[in-house]
Amino acid sequence: MILLSLTITIPTAFLWHRDRRPPRGSCQSCGYNLTGNVSGVCPECGAAA
Ligand SMILES: [Zn+2]
Repeated sequence: MILLSLTITIPTAFLWHRDRRPPRGSCQSCGYNLTGNVSGVCPECGAAA
């Protein structure tokens, strides 16, 4: 059932990869919520917000 596995795995991997990017207002590196953050630096990973 290799074909069945691929038809499930490929779309799942595609969606997962696409959704990896955090929404606006969150750190683009780690997804930490930066709402209200005024330092311009993510406190979680140190990336520029
Ligand atoms: Zn971060």
